Amino acid sequence: STTKNAIVAENLVRSFGPVRAVNNVSFEVPVGSVVGFIGANGAGKTTTMRMLATLDQPDSGRALINGYDAAVYPDRIRDALGWMPDSYGAYDGVTIVEYLDFYARALGFTKADRVARVKDVMDFTGLTPLAERMTNKLSKGQGQRLCLGRALIHDPAVMIMDEPAAGLDPQARVELKRLIRLLADEGKTIFISSHILAELSEMCDSMLFINNGEIIHHGSAESLLHGAGAAITYRVQI
Ligand code: ATP
Repeated sequence: STTKNAIVAENLVRSFGPVRAVNNVSFEVPVGSVVGFIGANGAGKTTTMRMLATLDQPDSGRALINGYDAAVYPDRIRDALGWMPDSYGAYDGVTIVEYLDFYARALGFTKADRVARVKDVMDFTGLTPLAERMTNKLSKGQGQRLCLGRALIHDPAVMIMDEPAAGLDPQARVELKRLIRLLADEGKTIFISSHILAELSEMCDSMLFINNGEIIHHGSAESLLHGAGAAITYRVQI
């Protein structure tokens, strides 16, 4: 890639009726960095991330992935991007290996490539022993690992992860953090949200704080505590 920023948000605006969910949001995520996106419930994290992932269109402003406008080049964005939503759809009667194969097929992989990619993500996420388990019979932690595996099926350079640690027990959180660190070490760019600062502070190069649809701070975890002052203390878990 020739661009220095994997993700650029330029004056993004998105309203739902009278609610301005995202209000003139701008930021950059440099290639190879891990950037945290901190904000309370309803602050606008999911809405912002969905626009970056081409799943929603801004009313105004632009989202760029590797320099490509998400609204103009959705296919290129999907090739470059792994999107991990805050919940995933499980299907009755579908095993983990079938579920991942389905996503690989949807992305146009040949049979041989599908087998290799599915094996790769199952090994990485520790799901190989559960390959024949039904996707609607998984624990929360197993489901999150499946969701991560799905996002990684085409080995994307950029990962956008919406509250991946929400609802996980401590052990599953530690495991998820380990996997995210491995992805970062591979050189992937990672943009990850949470409403818990401590969950992200050690793994992130910098943090963005969003409050009522506006970015009110961008910097280190410590600078966030100082710079955003009382707002962050009241709005999110430290
Ligand atoms: P959470 O952690 O609760 O998911 P969030 O920071 O991701 O919060 P968003 O989901 O982006 O926040 O929501 C921002 C605001 O936009 C909220 O007021 C929400 O109710 C509103 N909103 C989001 N999506 C829609 C929609 N499809 N229709 C109507 N309102 C919406």
